[in-house]
Amino acid sequence: MRRIYFDHSATTPVHPLVAEEIERYLTGENFGNPSSLHYFGRVAHKALDEAREKAARAIGAETGEIIFTGGGTESDNMAIHGAAYTNSKRGNHIITSGVEHHAVLHAVKALEKQGFEVTVLPVDHYGMVNVEDVKNAITDQTTLISVMHANNEVGTIMPIAEIGRLARERQIIFHVDAVQSFGKIPVNVDELGVNLLTISGHKIYGPKGVGLLYVRKGTRWRQTLVHGGAQERLRRAGTENVPGIAGLGKAMELAVANMAEESRRLAALRDRLFKEVPARFSDVEITGHPSVRLPNHVSFVFRYIEGESMLLSLDMQGIAASSGSACTSGSLEPSHVLLGMGYPHEIAHGSLRLTLGKDNTEEDVEYFLDVMEPIVARLRAMSPLSA
Ligand SMILES: *Cc1c(COP(=O)(O)O)cnc(C)c1O
Repeated sequence: MRRIYFDHSATTPVHPLVAEEIERYLTGENFGNPSSLHYFGRVAHKALDEAREKAARAIGAETGEIIFTGGGTESDNMAIHGAAYTNSKRGNHIITSGVEHHAVLHAVKALEKQGFEVTVLPVDHYGMVNVEDVKNAITDQTTLISVMHANNEVGTIMPIAEIGRLARERQIIFHVDAVQSFGKIPVNVDELGVNLLTISGHKIYGPKGVGLLYVRKGTRWRQTLVHGGAQERLRRAGTENVPGIAGLGKAMELAVANMAEESRRLAALRDRLFKEVPARFSDVEITGHPSVRLPNHVSFVFRYIEGESMLLSLDMQGIAASSGSACTSGSLEPSHVLLGMGYPHEIAHGSLRLTLGKDNTEEDVEYFLDVMEPIVARLRAMSPLSA
């Protein structure tokens, strides 16, 4: 059966060159522990050094500012807990947005239970945070602002550089989850003005279970979650995932090298979907910002249809899409992102997300459009709500 993968915000296939790099450190004499002083250890340590250089170069950082972690969720938690606790004598107030990934929202909620004050900023109908709202939320107790670069469910790109300027003026630590943006739009830590930044391997054609946290030199931040050995200069204990880290470094290098051309190509496919879907179907609305959004990200709400039913019908035709985030799909709660953008429950339930990637073509888009017509007709005919 023809299979089309339109769910690159959930995860991506590992790039063949990345797989090659990973395999290099799974086989032969390259299995050493990077902390060992002997030959085997030195080989493994060199792999970490090389990956760190590639990662740092890809985001405009210094190598000493890169901490390899067990993925995006771990980086977000480390960033937020570390910043909050390291600065708890200076203040106890944290600002974030209502459309963050659960790795940020639930980390912040855990801190709230520990007595920290939390402001969760609203977003507009496009899922955008308003910089004035950030400014107005800041108090003399604020020590941390955490806002994502691009939203995973609706693709909207946040005004990160402006928030970064604000944070710097007020000497507040600024964390950005760049898991969805890296590799699709420029991510430069100086241009964005961030102190802490999260990247995940498996969203960028790298392996799962590995990521990084960028920590700007001079940031008042200590690791407060995982205690153990002295790896990553005491900032992330535990024997390093050498094959995964080597793969992450390679994935970051490739992502930057191919970004301009690939983003242009994907944006053309995206824009064709944005033109054709509302032209062919009634009662459809684009969710997220129409233009300030990721080049590979397409999202809609279809009225009078359940997103889950669309997903399953598409899956039967070989098309992998998503309704909201992978974590939310499978539960009956609609996405906190769409609800936060002001969509009522019954409309938020009709969400469909297509996130494009390197193997998708014009033909895939045509196939989707063809397959979608009978699906929408059938599901709407079954719907008790349909006009
Ligand atoms: C996927 C994702 C994460 C979590 O990353 P993992 O590596 O899967 O733990 C965090 N933030 C955003 C925006 C994501 O899309």
